[in-house]
Amino acid sequence: MSDTAAATSAPTSAAVAAARPLEDGFVPYPADVAARYRTGGAWTERSIAEAFHTVAASRPDHPAIVSEGVMLTFAELDLRTDRFAAGALALGLRPGDPVLLQVHNSALAVVTWYGLLKAGLVPVCTLALHRRHEIGEISRRTRAVAHLVDATPVRAGRGFDLVAFACKERDGHPSVRHVLTIGAGKREGTTPVENLGADIPADEARRAVEAVQADVRDDSIAVFQLSGGTTGVPKVIPRLQAEYWYNARLYAGRLGWDGSERVGYVGPVMHNAGIICGVHGPHTVGATAVLGTPDLTGITPLLVEQEATDIVLGPFAYDVATDPGLAQATALKRVVLSGKKIPAEAFDTLEARGVWSGQLFGMGEGLCITTPLDAPREVRATTIGVPLSPFDEIKVLDPGTENPTPPGQPGELCGLGPYTLRGYYDADDHNANAFTSDGFYRTGDLVAYRVIDGMGCYSVEGRIKDLINRGGEKINAEEVENLLVAHPDITDAAVVAMPDGRLGERAAAFLVGRRRLDITEIQAHLDGLGVSKYKWPERLEWLDEMPRASQVGKTDKKRLRAIVAETPRIDRP
Ligand code: AMP
Repeated sequence: MSDTAAATSAPTSAAVAAARPLEDGFVPYPADVAARYRTGGAWTERSIAEAFHTVAASRPDHPAIVSEGVMLTFAELDLRTDRFAAGALALGLRPGDPVLLQVHNSALAVVTWYGLLKAGLVPVCTLALHRRHEIGEISRRTRAVAHLVDATPVRAGRGFDLVAFACKERDGHPSVRHVLTIGAGKREGTTPVENLGADIPADEARRAVEAVQADVRDDSIAVFQLSGGTTGVPKVIPRLQAEYWYNARLYAGRLGWDGSERVGYVGPVMHNAGIICGVHGPHTVGATAVLGTPDLTGITPLLVEQEATDIVLGPFAYDVATDPGLAQATALKRVVLSGKKIPAEAFDTLEARGVWSGQLFGMGEGLCITTPLDAPREVRATTIGVPLSPFDEIKVLDPGTENPTPPGQPGELCGLGPYTLRGYYDADDHNANAFTSDGFYRTGDLVAYRVIDGMGCYSVEGRIKDLINRGGEKINAEEVENLLVAHPDITDAAVVAMPDGRLGERAAAFLVGRRRLDITEIQAHLDGLGVSKYKWPERLEWLDEMPRASQVGKTDKKRLRAIVAETPRIDRP
């Protein structure tokens, strides 16, 4: 189906699906609460696009983004994104249309991001790693209208053709009409966007953006992020204009940034952490975002060459902290470690080099807890610190109850505040259990409240949600178990986290079946269902019977976790 054919066809199921308003399925902040956040100085910006434009206009010649040898100043990024927005609107995309993003880290990815926001379009932050299983579900739930894929050969290079994939996904899809591409050249039925709107005069592009932004409200949905840790298929998190920028402004403020920083980021940029810590965070204060890729050997050289002052390291990159080469990164002032408990060696080595080290607990759902600049060393080494906003409210509850646990005792971290979601998108059933009766979001993480050197702070003690944290990418155990038992020869499956020196955790599957499939057959089965590779179990154990923890038949995952932890092993095909 070509774009033209789609555009000229009479009312179709696509047009009907896309016509459903974005607000359908959205849980807003209560009006009185939103008013409090506005008057209290939290929600000060009306839109991300205009907030960025204001910063850009204040320091036009300063570098805004550096990535893979490309540097754009704030003026250049502002103009390119105005033009991108005007070009996107000229394609027939309309404000409020969700656009699936599968892009890699690059300056162009950031152009795309702000360009979409300036056009009032809603980026849907899927991963380049996602495949049919994930994209099919997310695109239908968000009623995405376009699918933007990055096919730059050097990055895509894993033999997977994202453009062909996106075109195939669009066929028969209820709402996706456009396949937009980066780095693919002109392919039939697709629209390359590297130079989108490049020939539109600057003032005309700005007027087009201003016309769209005039109708954007501070509590409109700006972005859809994906949840890392819920049951079943990934849940969609609506992030709103004012609160999303506020979240990033708070993060920059917590680290004392003033605009002179060069902030490195190497995880997937479209992750919530990528946007908050790697793009919006620096841009709220006019600092430079330095984007690299999650290639362990490339991180230290990036920091050295780009004279980065700051970086966030996810669990997959904690080894960088002890890399002797890091001594050459003389501009480096602060390292934030995030995603799992930090090894003492990483923390001590950085501090011994005179690099301030701290921790960040963050989640796509909003709530961020980080260690303040002036926090005592023990707070930074052993805890995640304190919430970002003075409006954040935290409860630590006995799991499954609404009873607070005493200080020092682990309980479920629950949060309510000006940048934490009020409901997953289009997920009423799930929302019924995801919040306390007074609206606190249940994170599924276990923390304890502690007071160290007079500072009240939180330490991570584990989690109750059933997921595997593979180098920062979350794998939902139940989702993979359901996919495994879809195989005719598998009758029961339990997926658990196996400790791993490099990634923190990997997925191991315990299986009961009619015959013992090997890892190649399991992978072929999951591949056939269109499941992203990072979710494929990396170790198999066949059992005659699944161990049960109770009379009601719940699988004894504690026992299974103990087995894989005792003898970690990766099964190679
Ligand atoms: P995501 O939404 O993908 O960013 O994942 C958020 C989840 O990552 C949290 O709910 C935690 O389970 C985990 N996480 C994030 N930061 C930390 C941290 N500093 N320590 C331990 N777990 C973390």
